[in-house]
Amino acid sequence: MATCPNCKKKIQEVRFQIVKSRHSFGRDILNSIAHCCPMCDSILSVEVDPIAVKTDTVRELMKRLGR
Ligand SMILES: [Zn+2]
Repeated sequence: MATCPNCKKKIQEVRFQIVKSRHSFGRDILNSIAHCCPMCDSILSVEVDPIAVKTDTVRELMKRLGR
């Protein structure tokens, strides 16, 4: 079973919170999800929020289509 690298407790589920990710050399800011240990709140991973990507893509497409 997976263990938290910080508190060393076994993890069966994670918490998540919405965070912003900024590219190191650019100005792009993406809505992202941080997966956190439920015991100590250490961040285990961060990924771009797939739902936000889908929503932003549809919004941009509609804008370019003039709708
Ligand atoms: Zn932990």
